[in-house]
Amino acid sequence: MTSRMLLVATGNAHKTQEIAAILGSEWKVEDLRAHPQLSSPEENGTTFEANARIKAESASRELPGVLVLSDDSGLEVDALGGAPGVISARYAGPSATDADNRERVKRELAGRESTARFHCCMVLARGGQTLGVFNGAVEGRILITEHGSGGFGYDPLFVPDGYTETFGVLPGAVKNQLSHRARALSQVTEWLKTNP
Ligand code: IMP
Repeated sequence: MTSRMLLVATGNAHKTQEIAAILGSEWKVEDLRAHPQLSSPEENGTTFEANARIKAESASRELPGVLVLSDDSGLEVDALGGAPGVISARYAGPSATDADNRERVKRELAGRESTARFHCCMVLARGGQTLGVFNGAVEGRILITEHGSGGFGYDPLFVPDGYTETFGVLPGAVKNQLSHRARALSQVTEWLKTNP
């Protein structure tokens, strides 16, 4: 069986690995690490969708004919008024690590737990044009201490509803069934079935 090619407009290997695992062997998934010549547009949107469009349209404009998928995602903590939101990747500063960002969330929460959700907006694009916009979210809560080292980003702090362990502890296969990314991606694959 021939596999279809999808370029994920990200340099984040964790996102690409999760998307490839969810899609399975029907798809050949690459990301921007295979295309270092592409420009990196400024993600200056104020919404997940705006940033997802910027990433997908920019890469697909420079690689005509290639089907491009972007993923703009982040954590919204209710006790922090929805922060870190669209600045999740750089909450603790422009060159912050995932650990720095988690430290800032814990510092701001100052010992409180909070309800929270991960949100993911995916945009499919070709030739610089958006073909579709797909959103997914997973509700849960943020703990005051980290548990586990699986996943990436805020995973060691986030317990999805219906579970007692964080995404840092739960197997990747469990995260990939219920995550914000999995939920957005299932809409993408549905859309692709009727718009091949
Ligand atoms: P983006 O690359 O601008 O979309 O920023 C995504 C950021 O949101 C990541 O760097 C993480 O901090 C956070 N994030 C998104 N998805 C996840 C996830 O599945 N687990 C943990 N953190 C995530």
